[in-house]
Amino acid sequence: MSSADPAGRPGRTFGRPPADPQLPPPPLAELPGPPRRVRPSTIVIISLVVIMVASVVAIPYATPVVDRWLQQQRPPDRTVPHDPGPPVSTGSDDRGGPGVGDPYYPDYGSSGYNALKYTINLNWSPDDQVLSGTTRIDARSDQLLRSFYVDLVLPVTRVTVNDRPARFNREGIYDVRITPSQAIPAHTRFHLTVSYGGDPADYRNGNITPWLVTDDEVTAASEPEGSAWWYPANDHPSDPATYDVSVRVPAGLQAISNGRLVSKDSRNEPGFDTWHWATDRTMATYQSLLSIGRYEIKQGTANGRPYVYAVSEQLSAGERARAFANLELTPKIISDEEGIYGPYPYHEIGGLVPGHRLWYDGLETATRPVYAARDMTRGNAAGLLTHELAHMWFGDHVTLQEWDDIFISEAYASFTAWWHAEKTGGRSADDRLHKTYDAYANQPGFWQISMIDPGRDHLFDAVYLRGPMTLQALRRVIGDDAFFQLARRWAQRGGVHSLEDWMRMAETVSGKNLDHFFRAWLYGPTAPARTAANGLA
Ligand SMILES: [Zn+2]
Repeated sequence: MSSADPAGRPGRTFGRPPADPQLPPPPLAELPGPPRRVRPSTIVIISLVVIMVASVVAIPYATPVVDRWLQQQRPPDRTVPHDPGPPVSTGSDDRGGPGVGDPYYPDYGSSGYNALKYTINLNWSPDDQVLSGTTRIDARSDQLLRSFYVDLVLPVTRVTVNDRPARFNREGIYDVRITPSQAIPAHTRFHLTVSYGGDPADYRNGNITPWLVTDDEVTAASEPEGSAWWYPANDHPSDPATYDVSVRVPAGLQAISNGRLVSKDSRNEPGFDTWHWATDRTMATYQSLLSIGRYEIKQGTANGRPYVYAVSEQLSAGERARAFANLELTPKIISDEEGIYGPYPYHEIGGLVPGHRLWYDGLETATRPVYAARDMTRGNAAGLLTHELAHMWFGDHVTLQEWDDIFISEAYASFTAWWHAEKTGGRSADDRLHKTYDAYANQPGFWQISMIDPGRDHLFDAVYLRGPMTLQALRRVIGDDAFFQLARRWAQRGGVHSLEDWMRMAETVSGKNLDHFFRAWLYGPTAPARTAANGLA
């Protein structure tokens, strides 16, 4: 049930393809048992997994499979023991804390400031697998800062704040505390530069290793953590920023990131290419992407937007052709989605199909989603593209206040795939709602995970099905006009928001008191009753 093949290995041999998202839910007899507890955060990363699979079966059952796969990937001699990190704090009156206080990931992000822009300059040395360089963070302080933190696993060699050398101390695997020579006043702009380097594969947070290595291809693209393996950041979705990324690689390798490809060789240096990318619209840290490898690249303009599609040369020529055919669906799907959600929030479009055996089918890296080769080479992947591209509005443009707000991202992305199938002559969203409800009505574990507070261990377990079911039921309760007006207004709002914000907007736009509906679908520990008020009759 997972898109990951437990017996598989990274590389060219791709595992069993995920179940066809167009299929109805399996009969009850085929459903696995009750949800099993799985280890915390890796899953999260993984859980993206589900996207397509989720259209068919609930995800809780997929995660242990991925877990086992991860275990197989762990190089025993390089494992760093799990470090619980520094005591979590949201800081004090004059010091930033090592976390923003997320209920599920309290040590992720850093309090006391907001990042505005990351300017990342890196060098990749394939011989010793060392990624080194300097990142400048332009930021604004929320308070007086005698010290503050960034999230980075790689060793730091030098830090400056406002161009003056600053002290730095590693605290745990994830956090670096920075003490500027002069305190930063509250509510002012400042900048810091961090010089660092190391082999990202050497660093693990528990059993989490977002740095993928397959032959000469390396990639960082994962959720909820990944950026700390290649640049220092305030690593939490509540602090999106703009990016300027330059990566120097030996000629013959390509370095792919988000946004606009400014230059493939910005330094004009013999034997090396420096790939320069820029995004002028904000994205969250988990939506940033770096992949270095041998890629076939197609570049051009579609519907007035520059595109860059990249497919790993680890795939055969035939597989690459099929992957490109799927990537080339992107402009049409975006145009369809603009029809209901309003203008696309970025300037550039694209997609990346690496050669790694990914633990997910797709990830909404901004402007350039990452797609698993197994999905992109086995036929039409429109459902997967529709999901990831919908995230450009839901998740990327409107990003999460806290990780427990994941519903507002995954529910809309999954619903959009249902809606798109309906629009293009496939199954209706109503049919999916009722068949999925029938299949899970007597599966208490599926309903015990609340959408308002799914818990860190189950963050991605049920939302890929519960999310689109809830939205389709809401559509039936408030009608198409209000439903799509709500979706468009929410999508165009931009910024950092919570599930509670969305519920308030749903009531405002529909003019209805939706307490009963939300209690049944978002808060309840049991299946909503099959009533008209719940959108089920
Ligand atoms: Zn998604």
